[in-house]
Amino acid sequence: MSCGFSKLFDREHDPSAVNSAIGTRFIYVLPPGIGLQCLYKTSSPLTPVRGVEFFQGTLDSTDEIESARVFDTTLRDGEQSPGTSFSYDDKRQIASILDEMGTHVIEGGFPVNSDAEFEAVRDIASSTSTTTCGLARVVDKDIEAALDSGVEMVHTFVSTSDVQIEDSMHATREDVRERAVESVERVKEAGVTCMFSPMDATRTDEAFLVDVVEAVSEVGVDWINVPDTCGVATPGRFRELIAKVGDHTDARIDVHTHDDFGLATANALAGIEAGADQAQVSVNSIGERAGNAAYEEFVMSVESLYQTDTGIDTTRITELSEIVADKSGMDTPGNKPVVGDNAFSHESGIHAAGVIENSDTFEPGVMTPEMVGAQRRLVMGKHTGTHSVRERLEERGFDPSDEEVRAVTRRVKDYGAEKRRVTVGDLERFAEEAEVPRRTEDESEREREEVRA
Ligand SMILES: [Zn+2]
Repeated sequence: MSCGFSKLFDREHDPSAVNSAIGTRFIYVLPPGIGLQCLYKTSSPLTPVRGVEFFQGTLDSTDEIESARVFDTTLRDGEQSPGTSFSYDDKRQIASILDEMGTHVIEGGFPVNSDAEFEAVRDIASSTSTTTCGLARVVDKDIEAALDSGVEMVHTFVSTSDVQIEDSMHATREDVRERAVESVERVKEAGVTCMFSPMDATRTDEAFLVDVVEAVSEVGVDWINVPDTCGVATPGRFRELIAKVGDHTDARIDVHTHDDFGLATANALAGIEAGADQAQVSVNSIGERAGNAAYEEFVMSVESLYQTDTGIDTTRITELSEIVADKSGMDTPGNKPVVGDNAFSHESGIHAAGVIENSDTFEPGVMTPEMVGAQRRLVMGKHTGTHSVRERLEERGFDPSDEEVRAVTRRVKDYGAEKRRVTVGDLERFAEEAEVPRRTEDESEREREEVRA
């Protein structure tokens, strides 16, 4: 790490996490008073930061849902991301944070898969206070392995769409219904909570889906998960489907949505609006193909947009996201909602000036960086305006006239337009070349504020 930015974080944080920050820009941490919290904090505050009230205006309506539970499948579906494999230690570490944050269910993995997987699921189940879930096909050895691992919930699944029944399972609808019922019966007989998934529900013949849902409900299934396995749902259609499933079962409903069209979180929320109690999500939305509904998007939408308390400590979301990115080997794009480097960054003149005055001007208002343990940043580059440059120069001890601010801003923009780094050294050099006078130096201020390009 060659830039000075690391100094800001070295003492308590993993500097490698900072390396992924924006490559060619000048990143400046806003001073206190605009409301900041350390980006890489590793412990939660005594009082979790809660949502800010929804803004008055066109969309000021927050009574659609009363509650929403979070079922995390980072360690199961998330691990099925091509190229991703979590070690035993990775799983334990991620599970322990999810547990401390108050996640309602942690799907630890697929116990029949391997000894290491079995041990990870077993040890997560015994060491966490939340509900641990193990996945099982509707196959005896899978169900027994899941039960033997000591999980509080077994999630058993079978394809119900004709395309998967025929070309993946090579079975018949009758086999599917029978094996589903037998598997649920076995889990219930063992006294364990049972979740059943009709896999590929959104591409399943509706009458058959209802038939299977009713059959497993009759033998006492606790949860019906409705998976949009191939990501083809839309919010309106999914809402109707969840309502329909609800008409045919007394079990609680859970939804599992995929992001092939970028609709996973929207579909999960539509499911909750339609009466589902819980959504399956993964941190950074990792998972099969384009991934799952994102933990961070779902939780923050429920908390901020729906003004509904999940009970989850959202201030650890940034930390959780970084650990999962590291362990999964999947980088988080800068423009990723909630957890991307740009989620609370501002460069363009009007936005940065507005945010300096009041962060609500160009941020959602109902979601702040503090709420997710992140940090608001001003980024200097091609789109920087004079307001930001003046702020930065004054903080560096300069006392510029309007004309000098404009001159330095031109240099910053030109430099940024060439995709070059605009460091604090560059900014000072531009100021000196423009002969901007200095106020009395405050060395401690200088020490505190570091800049990275
Ligand atoms: Zn999935």
